[in-house]
Amino acid sequence: MDSVLNELKEGIRKFQTEIYPANAQLYVKAASVPQEPAALIITCADSRIDPELITQSKPGKLFVTRNVGNLVPAYGEMMGGVSAVVEYAVSALKVRHVAVCGHTDCGAMKALLTPGSTDGLPAVKGWLTNAHAALSAAEPRGETADKADERLRRLTQENVLLQLQHLRTHPSVAGAMARGELTLSGWVYNIGTGEVLTSENVERAFHPVTVADAAA
Ligand SMILES: [Zn+2]
Repeated sequence: MDSVLNELKEGIRKFQTEIYPANAQLYVKAASVPQEPAALIITCADSRIDPELITQSKPGKLFVTRNVGNLVPAYGEMMGGVSAVVEYAVSALKVRHVAVCGHTDCGAMKALLTPGSTDGLPAVKGWLTNAHAALSAAEPRGETADKADERLRRLTQENVLLQLQHLRTHPSVAGAMARGELTLSGWVYNIGTGEVLTSENVERAFHPVTVADAAA
């Protein structure tokens, strides 16, 4: 009857019979101590993103929140799930880093570039107003209009930078940064290539994370 649920349950059984037994110590240890995640990752709800996989993080390492477009409303704008996650992660769990992770082929970014596409989706439309300033920042530059893919690429980056700005308006974040206890970064994950670009230290530029970086 419910083939999707059955498929999910098949995955649970596989986890219980293969993955869990092979890593039982890890899970038992994770359950025996309070969580102390080092980082908060704010990323898109897109089904093709797997924060633990791309950062190779084990249980307990990442505090994660996901939403359409990896958005963080500025403090006081829309006090809800994201604001609570940020406050809890920074003030209670004392994460030392917050990363906002956008991605290629993001439906939310494409919707922003297509006025009217969210007319039948009032909740999505309202939520995406948290990214409108990025749309202005990604406007075509120069005399000729940009190609669509270039504009999408720029909007995706500008949106990540905007959400980092919004993050800094949260008192918990501003306080921890002032005390030198917290750093922020912005990422863009390329679904098709596995490449991750990062913007660090309040720089606007994004640079690829490379294998050579680790060796240096
Ligand atoms: Zn997305």
